[in-house]
Amino acid sequence: MEKREMLYEGKAKKVFATDDPDIVIVDYKDDATAFNGVKKGTITGKGVINNKMTNYVFRELEADGVPTHFIKQLSDRETEVKKVKIVPLEVIVRNVAAGSFSKRMGVPEGKELLQPILEFSYKCDELNDPFINDDYALALGLATQEDIDTIKSYTKKINAFLIDYFLKADLKLIDFKIEFGKDKDGKILLADEISPDTCRLWDVHTNEKLDKDRFRRDLGNVEEAYNEVFKRLGIDS
Ligand code: UDP
Repeated sequence: MEKREMLYEGKAKKVFATDDPDIVIVDYKDDATAFNGVKKGTITGKGVINNKMTNYVFRELEADGVPTHFIKQLSDRETEVKKVKIVPLEVIVRNVAAGSFSKRMGVPEGKELLQPILEFSYKCDELNDPFINDDYALALGLATQEDIDTIKSYTKKINAFLIDYFLKADLKLIDFKIEFGKDKDGKILLADEISPDTCRLWDVHTNEKLDKDRFRRDLGNVEEAYNEVFKRLGIDS
């Protein structure tokens, strides 16, 4: 596989073309942003951790019946993935109140929810990823009913898998964000990443935050938190 021109540079990853039009290479950076790019910084080693962790989780999810864009890890920071068109929805799952949910609903961070919440944001930086519902997505043509049904069913499976996976590492999955794409045949695939950038993970005993909130909220020991999660998960390749 030959790596060719850069197609896109996002906040945390670069995407490169290859000699195969259906395959792209993602290259994970150490750059960190928060509040829609207003806060910028570097988390040294983050790119390697997020790459390896995402790939490990995506492989497990594939085995569990959730199709993903993953093809093969090329290096510490680079992975070959199927080219997809991203569905412009940020799919957020909440198991415990935190972040924007706590603010919006006046519910203290850490309060267990009676059932998981699946919510959508419209993926649009200019609008600050506004909160939307199924009807917005359908009315604006962001996704079809079939897409939404598929996305919801995969997302429930992913939440169940991740809760258990992190709990084995003494980590509580508070909430997370995932994205889906459509491949050339219109099939919905899990895309983007699953990492401490996109999940809130708290130590199960102390509730210590071991995720990107350490960066967002200037809590210190940011690199240490990413390394701790990676170490606990025991991912070595
Ligand atoms: N999240 C993300 N990217 C975003 C927005 C949210 O990865 O652009 C993740 C975030 O890390 C958290 C979950 O989605 O795990 C829920 O985030 P929330 O809506 O509470 O927003 P935040 O408080 O992070 O702005």
